[in-house]
Amino acid sequence: MQDHVSRLVGLDGFRVKCVIEDGDQLDLEVELVARAQSCPHCAGGALEVHERPVVAVRDLPIAGRQATLRWRKRRYRCRDCRRTHTESCEQAPSRQRLTGRFHSRLAERARSGGAHAEIAREERTSRYQVTKAMRISAAAAIDSRPSALPRRLSFDEAAHRKGSNSLATVVSDLDRRCVHEVLDGRSKRVLERYLGSLSEEQRSGVAVVCIDLHDPYRQAVRAKLPDAQIVADPFHVVRGAGEALDTVRRARQREQRATVKGKRGRSATWNPRLYRARHLLLRGRERLTERQRRRLCDLFAFDPVIAEAWWLKEALRSVYAADSRAQAEWRLDRFAAAAARSGYQPFSAYLNGITPWREEILAHFEQPVSNGYAEGVINKVKVIKRRAYGLPSFEGFRERVLVACG
Ligand SMILES: [Zn+2]
Repeated sequence: MQDHVSRLVGLDGFRVKCVIEDGDQLDLEVELVARAQSCPHCAGGALEVHERPVVAVRDLPIAGRQATLRWRKRRYRCRDCRRTHTESCEQAPSRQRLTGRFHSRLAERARSGGAHAEIAREERTSRYQVTKAMRISAAAAIDSRPSALPRRLSFDEAAHRKGSNSLATVVSDLDRRCVHEVLDGRSKRVLERYLGSLSEEQRSGVAVVCIDLHDPYRQAVRAKLPDAQIVADPFHVVRGAGEALDTVRRARQREQRATVKGKRGRSATWNPRLYRARHLLLRGRERLTERQRRRLCDLFAFDPVIAEAWWLKEALRSVYAADSRAQAEWRLDRFAAAAARSGYQPFSAYLNGITPWREEILAHFEQPVSNGYAEGVINKVKVIKRRAYGLPSFEGFRERVLVACG
């Protein structure tokens, strides 16, 4: 019977000696099947059992009931050197309160999206154990990553702590669509150190690097990957134009409020039309329905400044719809001239921001890459952060991202 129970529990090398029921909990008295051993200190073979301490180790539930191993360990004393050692086992390493397979189960649940507190409650263990299980599996996953760098990389920033300046850089592999590394910071130095730590072979394999418009990224790539082509991420470029339009809209709302204020006070002045159209204005022209198109036309008749700002945003977007690099160049120049002429401060600021990136923006027509994948990662990271009730350290953040997206 004992052998049957041992087989049922299925922990290699362990024999179940007795099962004690306590409500819905099971205590299994187990011991390791004794093996011939030699002294780890002097390699002598004359060992005697010196003590039998009992340790409690949580294991997977059995038929829905919480199971704890009561393991009577053998502590040996060597007759030759008089030193002691304790038997050990891979599934229940010393000083671990959970078996390896129970840790794996917790990590598996955490990886598939469970909130740590909820897993701990359901598995009747502590949040500390869930986090620890996650750490162990993360370390294993990180070690088993492919070492080869992809041909196409991207650098993207992500905040790893809310409300502070803790910015990280996510290095993504655009070929395999996974995160390759997470760096603590976004300075030139941080990136150069990372790129410098790669082998010559890894670095020479990188042909394209897609980055957001952050000059330290560009400088580091130029310094360390001189042969790689740098592409400005189209999402960031287009988003900047949308932000400029949004700033113009908010300024218009304020102006209109100010002009009417004198007459009837603040509450009567608020024209919600511009505010209500805020999402519609940012939507791409080709994605508008007929009705939305008419709504915008009405709005533009009412406010020609918004009409011009919207046109500027669309003019910038049209650069990416160009059929050729030459056409894109022409459209970019047309946008630049119109933005400068408009005199709208948000657009001149935006233009100043993108002008030094002309080559990298147009490089998209030779290497049509984007950080779309990394953007997805960053959204995923936000969810990961919420589940993990805040991330105390950069290291914890890095692990989570690599496990979830590696
Ligand atoms: Zn010895």
